[in-house]
Amino acid sequence: MRKAVGIDLGTTYSAISIIGEDGLPRIIKNSEGERLTPSVVYFEDGKPIVGKEAKEMQAFGAEAAVSLFKRSMGDTNYRFFVEDKEYTPVDLSTMVLSKLKSDAESELGENITHAVITVPAYFSDFQRRNTKTAGENAGFTVLRIINEPTAAAIAFGSNKFKDDTTVLVYDLGGGTFDISLIKISKEEVEVIATAGNHELGGKDWDDVILRYFASLFEEQYGEGPFLYSVLINDLRVKAEATKIALSNKNSSSFSITFSGKIVRYEINRDKFAQLAAPLTEATISLVDQVLIDANYQKEDIDGILFIGGSTRMPMIEDILSKRYDCPIIKSIDPDEAVALGAAIQANIDMHTRSIPDPESHKNQTFFLASKTIKDVMSHSLGIVAANSDNSKYLNSIIIPKNQPIPSTNSKPYKLQTGSKIDNQMEVYLTQGENERPLDNQIIGLYRFSGISHNKNNTVINVLYEYDENGIIQVSGKESNGKSLNCTKEPIPEDLSWLDRAPELHQKSTEHLSLYFAIDLSGSMSGHPLKEARKAANSFVSNIDLAHSSIGVIGVSDKVKIFQSLTQNSKKITNAINSMVEGSTGYCNSGQPFTEAYKLLEKEKGARFILVLADGVWSNQEHAIAEAKRCHKVGIDVIAIGFGSADEQFLKDISSLDENALFTDLSKLTESFTKIAQVLTENTSSMQMLR
Ligand code: AMP
Repeated sequence: MRKAVGIDLGTTYSAISIIGEDGLPRIIKNSEGERLTPSVVYFEDGKPIVGKEAKEMQAFGAEAAVSLFKRSMGDTNYRFFVEDKEYTPVDLSTMVLSKLKSDAESELGENITHAVITVPAYFSDFQRRNTKTAGENAGFTVLRIINEPTAAAIAFGSNKFKDDTTVLVYDLGGGTFDISLIKISKEEVEVIATAGNHELGGKDWDDVILRYFASLFEEQYGEGPFLYSVLINDLRVKAEATKIALSNKNSSSFSITFSGKIVRYEINRDKFAQLAAPLTEATISLVDQVLIDANYQKEDIDGILFIGGSTRMPMIEDILSKRYDCPIIKSIDPDEAVALGAAIQANIDMHTRSIPDPESHKNQTFFLASKTIKDVMSHSLGIVAANSDNSKYLNSIIIPKNQPIPSTNSKPYKLQTGSKIDNQMEVYLTQGENERPLDNQIIGLYRFSGISHNKNNTVINVLYEYDENGIIQVSGKESNGKSLNCTKEPIPEDLSWLDRAPELHQKSTEHLSLYFAIDLSGSMSGHPLKEARKAANSFVSNIDLAHSSIGVIGVSDKVKIFQSLTQNSKKITNAINSMVEGSTGYCNSGQPFTEAYKLLEKEKGARFILVLADGVWSNQEHAIAEAKRCHKVGIDVIAIGFGSADEQFLKDISSLDENALFTDLSKLTESFTKIAQVLTENTSSMQMLR
């Protein structure tokens, strides 16, 4: 028989629940007979042990024990190393889920096949996908991933058949905080807005107590226990116990045994509330944020539903009831509500999706308060685009957060195109609300190609579609309705350019004026000059002359202008081919910058000098000074060297270190071609239209 469960995969504790014969959700106890399983893994001779025993081993300071890995879900750099093996957050979560599954199967005496697993509403799509993978690795068919506050609201709303109720679901767990504004009616559970911080939870309150006592100890004895990780683990467990004790009584004590001293300190509720005030305030500002986002007043709220073990701290109830003046709903166990709601959802999914059950006649489980669930997007989805004056990259939001799921929206972007190239556009898909692209998560890279050239900028409508499973579809259309070819690509590791001005791209949207400054000294004779001509000609055929002018200068002892700026490719090619070695002298005492400065000074748009050198110039200092004069007025210098050219000198005359390139003769054409393409390239230069 197909059996579906609901799982709350918590940061500190996890729970599993099922709909019983009576149609009501119930928690399934683990093999230790407990309703909650600590999300802690301990490795004994390489074998994972999950739950209470692992938590105890951690308290003893065992280094092979790990917890709080849910906080690192989606962090590709996180690894837990033990006995020469490494484990990702997905691996560790799989172990917790496997324990929940096998314990529940023993308790029920039958196999469990399907599951709904919950995640904090604030989890990104990547973190959700990782959670789903962990579920599948543990042997479940994952029916869906739902938000923890939504699950809690389902559990709370499952027996509400009458009036509409609007609640704030305040979910403060061990490692995460979520706040959701949810409307529950007879027919549906509708999430209106959501916010959260997945690095704020009960553990931070533990740390407040730990720091307080450690500092008292340090004050008294001049040394503290903080440097000793084994001791810290033990103190952390004690700090949590003190915190929990303060939920039941007004004061509690804490003992530190360190360096031959045993000391006992007291703390009372008021002191704890005062020390933890910045943490409570951090949650309050997110509650306010959700109300503002949803355009709700506190009078519109019927109650605050408490979820997560940390809501048991009296300071939380005190501050919320004071600030929002509405009832605190504690009718369902805050540790269990999420798993119970997930089980209700799993049961509904098994029925509505008609999951085939070979023994369906045995399945007597009936529907429990089936309501439609309407959730919202917890994050905005955007695109990296240049701002209107092309001075920086911005995160331009296409679908704002809190839109109902599924959600679709498109926005137009202006793209400068060229006549000779395959016009392409890169779509960096962002998740988050921050203006600076790198303050958000970059979750995808898509490339539109085959874009038509349009002299007055092509307008591309970028369309995002977000479905119930958190899958995002990206597509693009030209303003004439032509659909664009779109391919998904890996996201490059180095995205630091997103913090720089879109300089080269900016220039490509303007007219570009460029002088070749080719070394014509004696050492260029024969093959090198032939290769230089070939490379310069390749550059010309790869640059978009509709938007560029090119001139040709030869330099050695003297400087000669073979061609002043022109858009006529024939003239440029003729000039390149007419350059002969020695026509400006056989040595290197000259430099091209003074002359090029005069020629480019008055030109509008982007201005470049592309220098090709094969030897050491005799008057380097003067050349560097004149090159710097060019940089100062915005004339960019690109320097390419080969043979015995001096690399440091190339860097000194270049306007940016990246603009200096040392290559060999056989790669000269390739290098010139690449530069032409970069200068013409439009891929990231799309601009926001609004
Ligand atoms: P959850 O992630 O929802 O399982 O919540 C676990 C967190 O709740 C941990 O940080 C616990 O220390 C905390 N917690 C559990 N019971 C209490 C209590 N009675 N008072 C204060 N915090 C508690």
